[in-house]
Formats: sequence, structure tokens, C-alpha cells
Amino acid sequence: MGQGLSCATNDENGLFSAAKLGDLETLQTQIDADPSLLNHTTMYDRQSLLHIAAANGQIDVLSWLLDRSMNLDLLNRRKQTPLMMAAIRGKISCVQKLVDAGANILMFDSLHGRTCLHYAAYYGHSDCLLVILSAARSSHVSASWGYSHFVNIRDAKGATSLHLAARQRRQHSLRILLDNGALVCSSTGGSGYLGSTPLHLAARGGSLECIRELLAWGADRLQRDGSGRIPYVVALKHKHGACAALLNPSSVEPLVWPSPLKFISELNSDAKLLLERALMDANREREKNILKGTAYSIPSPSHSDGGIDDNFSEASDAELCCICFDQVCTIEVRDCGHQMCAHCVLALCCHNKPNPATTILNAPLCPFCRSRIARLVVAKGTDDNDDNDIGCPRLRRSRGSLNLSEGSSSFKGLSAVGSFSKAGARGSGRILLDEWVDKSDP
Ligand SMILES: [Zn+2]
Ligand SMILES: [Zn+2]
Repeated sequence: MGQGLSCATNDENGLFSAAKLGDLETLQTQIDADPSLLNHTTMYDRQSLLHIAAANGQIDVLSWLLDRSMNLDLLNRRKQTPLMMAAIRGKISCVQKLVDAGANILMFDSLHGRTCLHYAAYYGHSDCLLVILSAARSSHVSASWGYSHFVNIRDAKGATSLHLAARQRRQHSLRILLDNGALVCSSTGGSGYLGSTPLHLAARGGSLECIRELLAWGADRLQRDGSGRIPYVVALKHKHGACAALLNPSSVEPLVWPSPLKFISELNSDAKLLLERALMDANREREKNILKGTAYSIPSPSHSDGGIDDNFSEASDAELCCICFDQVCTIEVRDCGHQMCAHCVLALCCHNKPNPATTILNAPLCPFCRSRIARLVVAKGTDDNDDNDIGCPRLRRSRGSLNLSEGSSSFKGLSAVGSFSKAGARGSGRILLDEWVDKSDP
């Protein structure tokens, strides 16, 4: 990207080398002798001492320079600020220091018209990304521009930070951006023109992980780019076969995170983690089925070290979700107190696709009592019996009072297949899913 910091050309005093290497003593001696040296820049790139310190993660030098009230937002030849340099190189301590000192996060360079947010995303420095986002949330930027506007800011070619993260296969940065309101279907073409979506760029980059994330956030497999291509065609062109298989519009649709639902946007972090994991598990299963019989296979999931999966085998019958009879109840519906597994919660919530024009999603009701879902929380374990006012609403309480409406078909689709025979085999007294669905049809 031509971000090299050549400082040999006019470094007659060894000043720039000292900043680069963190030699504060040399720097101090020289600048105390001649304070005008503070304003020197390298000959060609016009990098200041602050740029050099920031790009090389020399936090002591940087702090010392800031104490000398050096201008935070100096520009080099490409109109890049020291903050951009630190974001490009992933120097988190310098990013933090500059942001704390009030560096402007809303500067655009002349190279690609990018901000520090673009650069952190492009190079996949998730820690820097988080610091910049947090600064944006609390600064004048969000007051004047709006936080969401900042997250979705475009570079000279119309790319948002999400586009860049997708193109560069930066899964973690992509995730952070989506979590912070990056628009999953934004097009580099801007309003009214066709351009590439983040999904097109992920297809080009060939990252299954990024594609999985984008699809789970509702990316559209049928959106066309400026050349009229859907992401599937882009993946094929770049010979990313597995990605193409997932992007093929005739493949089964993935579950989409139901972000427009109020109680989903208000989840606490534990419940959110459980549901996100269940969503990714369900989509991985789907991927496995899609890729089965093709030349591609997915490496075995890396998340199996978690404690939750281990509990499944030891779970007693009473803890089993009585919708799927397969997984442990991990989520509790408030205020009614009914419990089910994370997979079934998702089946319930992901059943209705949001209307892309309005992003309005019909809120589902509790499938057991049809009361409004105010909140979803992590279900308490059976060891935790002090919460008896909510009681143990699992199997006993819910039997016979099931009320399933529109959600039934997606329950069947998601969870019945693998668990049905299991539930049947267990036999006695259990409600079979077929019977259960028929009974509850209005
Ligand atoms: Zn379940
Ligand atoms: Zn209920």
C-alpha cells in the first residue's frame, strides 16, 4: 500500500531514527537544543516525528511529543494523520493515546479517501477498531454525524469499513463492525447505483467465515453488483468453490440473526453469546449439508471445547428442551418463565424474514403460553433452586398447554429432523412433535 516510512533521506541529526527506535534520550537532547526540530518532517513523505513514533508503536516518544503540545492531526504527504499510521500498523497503545488526547477520527487521507476506521478494518486490527468505535460513540462525531453514519462512512471508491474487512478476510473486524451497526447490504455504488456489497467482496476474497457472518446478518445473495453479477458468480470467477456453494441461490437459506426484534437487541451478553453460537452452529450444519458430496468439506468446528456441549450428554430428562427433545434448556422467556434451548429460540425468531425495506419483523410470542416475550435471559441451572417463584417451567409445566402458531414449520425444519427419532425412541409419555404441532394449530 506504499505505507513505508522512509526517513533516511534527511535524517541528518538522527532525529527520525530516534523516534522510530524509541530513543527518547537522543530525541530530548536534540529538541531541547533546538526546539524547531519538533516541526521537521521527512523529505519525501513529510512524516512528522509524531507519525514515525505512532507507526512504530513508540508510546514513550509519542507521549513525550504530545506533552510538548505537538499538533495531533498533522498530515503527511498523503494527508494521513499519526492516528491513521498507528491504525495501519496496529499499534494499539498509540491509537489509544492519540484518541484519548483528542485526535480527530474523522480525517480522510488523499490516497484512498479513507479514515482511521477504514484502515483498522482493512488491516484487521480489531483492538484498534474497538478503540476508534468507542471514541466515535462518545465524541462530537456521534453528536454531529451520528454514530451509525460514522461506522458506515465511505472511502473515495464508495467502500465502507465493512467492505474492506470483507475483502481482506478480516473476520473479527467484520464481526465488530456488524455488531456496531455496519450496513450489511450497503453498495459501493452509493444510492441509486449498483456497486459491490460486502458479500461480493467476501466472495472475491474467498473467506468462508466472512461469508457465513454476512449471511447470518442478512446479506442478500441475490443483490447484483455494477456488472450485474451476484456474489455467487464472483466466487466462481475467483475459483472459491466452497464459498460459491454457500452463495449459490439454490442452496438452503441460512438462519439470519433477528436483530430487528426488540428483545434481541436488548439481550444481555450471556444470552446473546448462547444465541449467536446456536445460530452459527445451525448455519454450520447447513453448510455441511450443502458441501456434502462436493469436493469441499468444512474443517471440524473449533468451538467444541466449550462447556455447554459437554453438558448435553449428562443432562437429565427434565432439563431437555421440550420442543426438540434434543438440547438442554438454556434460555428462559420473561416474564412467563418458560424455557427452551437456544436453537428453538432461534427457530422461533428467525422464522419471519425481516422486510428489507422497513426492517420490521413480527415479534414472535412464547410458544407455550402465547404471551408477549419481554426479555430473554439465560436459564438458571437445576442446582439453582432459590428462584422458585419462576419455578421449573420446563417439561411438566408446559405439557398440555402448548400453543404454537406460525413458528411451527421452522421448528420442524430446524430441530425436528435430528431429534425426532430420539424423542420417539424415548417413548413413554412424551409428546411427539407431529401430534404437538397438529394440536396447537389454531
Ligand atoms: Zn429445543
Ligand atoms: Zn410462556
